[in-house]
Amino acid sequence: MTAPELEQAIAEAAWQIASANYVVALVGAGLSAESGVPTFRGEGGLWTKYGEPDMRGYERFLKDPAKWWEERISRSSTYRELVTALEEAVPNDGHFALRDLEELGYLKHIITQNIDNLHQTAGSRAITEIHGNRTKLRCISCSQRWPLDEFPMDDMPPHCTNCGGIVKGDTVMFGEPIPRDALNECVEQTRQCDCMLLVGTSAVVYPAAGFPVDVKTSGGRLIEVNPNETPLTDISDVVLRAPAGEALPRVVERLRTMVNE
Ligand code: NAD
Ligand code: ZN
Repeated sequence: MTAPELEQAIAEAAWQIASANYVVALVGAGLSAESGVPTFRGEGGLWTKYGEPDMRGYERFLKDPAKWWEERISRSSTYRELVTALEEAVPNDGHFALRDLEELGYLKHIITQNIDNLHQTAGSRAITEIHGNRTKLRCISCSQRWPLDEFPMDDMPPHCTNCGGIVKGDTVMFGEPIPRDALNECVEQTRQCDCMLLVGTSAVVYPAAGFPVDVKTSGGRLIEVNPNETPLTDISDVVLRAPAGEALPRVVERLRTMVNE
C-alpha cells in the first residue's frame, strides 16, 4: 500500500468509525508485536520458529494439576521467550490509540485475544479477554478470578476459596474451553456492533474468527489494521496495511480533526 493509499484508507476508516453506532475492536497478538511480544503466526512468530505446540495443554493440566503448578513455579516453560517478553512489555502507541478511541466515545468495547494485560495498563476500560489474562488466576469450576498476588498458595494445586474447585492460571490453554462469561460477553458485543476494527489478528482462531463474519452478515462494516493479508481481508470494507502502532494513532488524529471541522 502506497503512502497516499494509506492516507486515503485512514480517512475512510475515520469516517466509518464516526458514522457507526457501536464500534468494537477485535484484537490479536499483532497489536502487542510493537511492544516486543512475539506473535505465534507470521514472520518472527514463535510457531514459525519452533513449530506448533502440543495442543493438549488443558488435558495434561486436568490429569495432573500439581505438576503443572510445579512447572509454573519453577518457570521451566517451553515458552520462556514469550514469558520474558511479556514481563518486560509496556503498551505501545496502538494500545494508547484504542484507549483514546474509547475516551473520545467512539470505541465501545475491546474483545482481545491477548493475555498480556497491556490494554489495562494503557487505560482502556471496556475489555473482554477471550483467552484470559496472565496476571490473574481462575477457578475451573465457578470461573471466579483473582489477581495473582491476592491468592493464598497454601496447597498444591490451589483450590477455590469459593467452591473448592481447582485453580489455574486465567490464560486459556490449548484444548481448554473459552470461559462461558467471556464468550457470552463477546456474543453480546458482536450483536450490538455495526463496525468492527480487526487489529493485529490473523483471524483463524475460533471463536474470535467468527465475530467479524457475524458483523458483516448483519450489515456492519469491517476495518482491518494489519501489515499482512488475512482471511478477513476480502470481506473488509477498509484495509489499513500498516502496523497498528502507526495506523491507529493516525485514525485518532483524523477523528479529532473531524470533530473540530
Ligand atoms: P497471531 O499470532 O496468529 O497473528 C498475529 C497477526 O498480527 C498476524 O496477522 C500479523 O500479520 C499481525 N501483525 C504483526 N505485526 C503487527 C503489527 N505491528 N500491527 C498489526 N498487526 C500485526 O495472533 P492471533 O490471531 O491473535 O492469535 C494467536 C493467539 O495467540 C491468540 O489467541 C492469543 O491468545 C495468543 N497470543 C497472545 C499474545 C499476547 O498476549 N500479546 C502473544 C502471542 C500469542
Ligand atoms: Zn470456584
